[in-house]
Amino acid sequence: MSRFWSDQVAGLAPYVPGEQLKRPNLLKLNTNEHPYGPSPRALEAIRAASTDHLRFYPDFGATALREAIAALHSIQADQVFLGNGSDEVLAHVFNGLFRKAGRIVLMPDVGYSFYPVYCRFYQIPHEFIPVAADFSIQVADYTTRRATAPAGIIFANPNAPTGMALTLASVEQILAANPDSVVVVDEAYVDFGAQTAVPLLGRYDNLVVVHTLSKSRALAGLRVGYALASPQIVEGLLRIKDSFNSYPLDSIAQAGARAAIQDEAYFDQMCRAVIRAREHLVKRLKTLGFQVLPSLTNFVFARHPGHSAASLHLALRERAILVRHFKQPRIEQFLRITVGTPDDCERLSDVLAEILDTSGRDGQDI
Ligand SMILES: *Cc1c(COP(=O)(O)O)cnc(C)c1O
Repeated sequence: MSRFWSDQVAGLAPYVPGEQLKRPNLLKLNTNEHPYGPSPRALEAIRAASTDHLRFYPDFGATALREAIAALHSIQADQVFLGNGSDEVLAHVFNGLFRKAGRIVLMPDVGYSFYPVYCRFYQIPHEFIPVAADFSIQVADYTTRRATAPAGIIFANPNAPTGMALTLASVEQILAANPDSVVVVDEAYVDFGAQTAVPLLGRYDNLVVVHTLSKSRALAGLRVGYALASPQIVEGLLRIKDSFNSYPLDSIAQAGARAAIQDEAYFDQMCRAVIRAREHLVKRLKTLGFQVLPSLTNFVFARHPGHSAASLHLALRERAILVRHFKQPRIEQFLRITVGTPDDCERLSDVLAEILDTSGRDGQDI
């Protein structure tokens, strides 16, 4: 607390990311980082960009990268908006598209916990729409007419932290029923098996799709994310960006991201490896008695009927394995576990088996 803070600061409740502990032999399965490194071609491009050219400002339009992303998704470069991680892109989306007098934003009650942080930061009224008992998003909850159209609707697809996905047809129903609302589909995990909404961009001018290179491209440290939308929406987001920071993406990030986007063979191979490891991990967790939600991401969301998530989280931590536990209504008995290499998954499963074996039931009936 300082008397020099501006009025808003004291009331802020920032997002808390998963911890980044440094310990020998630590197995980090808490922030959905990729178990393998980024494309070797991306690393090569990053090295090649590390020259005395860094004295120049980067291309503020990041033209080459935007063109590579546009080519990847078969859209136009003026439909691509880049940011320093998709979290920054999302912040500009909330600021630039959701702040409308007298209008609210809808989001699932179990969802990415950064969304309500942005709402509070930008003072955007919002309504949480409960997901069903099985944690699925109910399309009908977003298609009923309201007296005033919401300024926006936002959800992750697949959803975080449940890992469950809506079909493309369901996403389209939401878009079609809300022509006067911006519908933001956060596809941070879409490459691990779900259907992307990108093909709907041509037909729905209210659609914004958000992607990141942090998860499926294994570049969380480079901080690159993007939104895909109509050129008119992108123009609005660019106005926000250029009123805030004209150069959010440095030259190194632009070069590395472009090379990563263009290395499709490596990308496909790595996504398939994670999906295979996930299927195997799900089987092992089920054998250990866990209930596992159907995941199309690089993490699983699981609970054990005989053990509290808090106690399992702690027991794993004591054994140098970090997973994510959200102390939040409806999901406090779940652990979110990032899919690692087959060896990582094996170590996690073995340690869990040992914990379940030695601790017995801890009296929780969940
Ligand atoms: C990880 C994640 C992001 C943020 O990714 P960055 O690009 O690293 O900022 C956004 N949305 C969801 C749902 C995520 O899980």
